[in-house]
Amino acid sequence: MLNGKTALVTGSTSGIGLGIAKALARQGANIVLNGFGDVDGPRAEVLAAGQAHGMRVDYHGADMSRAAEIEDMLKYSARQFGRVDILVNNAGIQHVASVQDFPVEKWDAIIAINLSSAFHTTRLALPGMLAANWGRIINVASVHGLVASAQKSAYVAAKHGIVGLTKVTALENATTGVTCNAICPGWVLTPLVQKQVDAKAAALGVSNEEAKKLLLGEKEPSMQFTTPEELGELAVFFCSPAANNVRGVAWNMDGGWAAQ
Ligand code: NAD
Repeated sequence: MLNGKTALVTGSTSGIGLGIAKALARQGANIVLNGFGDVDGPRAEVLAAGQAHGMRVDYHGADMSRAAEIEDMLKYSARQFGRVDILVNNAGIQHVASVQDFPVEKWDAIIAINLSSAFHTTRLALPGMLAANWGRIINVASVHGLVASAQKSAYVAAKHGIVGLTKVTALENATTGVTCNAICPGWVLTPLVQKQVDAKAAALGVSNEEAKKLLLGEKEPSMQFTTPEELGELAVFFCSPAANNVRGVAWNMDGGWAAQ
């Protein structure tokens, strides 16, 4: 379905971003990976997912807190593939503390990586998408883009912000072939959440398995983690012709979290 298209997925060396990159590769899209840590492993996984299509995988290591590096990544993607057809704004970090104790540098980093980076990638990718009259911008927000939790001021502010950016981008391009939508996962067992599981296990003196159950029990009625594979398939749907007129939505995959 996505043969000949190119997807740039930020923060795709791990977790949800890697799951989305693999799902888009399975549909034949070329992939530009981004993120920190090991690149060879994720690259091999994405190539294996797309091998039936002979798609290509490239990587750019832009730090998503730096506008100049983001600009360089978009130029690199255009040089490699002509343009970015599918932009998945996924890179994100978390820090947990009460407002009065929240480290200022953590606040600035979360707003930069989880919110401002999506403004930069979007403003830079849109002209090419509009010229082609086809594009998909998928913002990985969170259920925290819709509701709040204590101790997560910067994260909740950034995620509510990215849902707002999603709506404005969708509206400004509503008469074109470019759509913009957000995905709002509940708990997904990635390294970002494993840190919170570890913290809970240590604080309460319980096992890892017990800490996972407690985490789910607080928020997620299904008592199940959403998986990167499931989120990847939702991204594929947003890229499909059936989603041509899905614009500006913030779509939960949260086991009923926000329905309460
Ligand atoms: P993760 O820690 O597994 O992956 C984060 C990715 O972002 C990694 O590839 C990392 O290298 C990259 N990254 C971090 N800082 C970066 C920077 N400055 N520049 C470039 N890349 C950077 O986390 P995840 O759980 O897969 O989270 C991905 C997205 O999903 C985030 O936006 C997160 O807020 C969101 N999300 C996660 C959950 C969850 O339960 N895990 C729930 C809702 C939303």
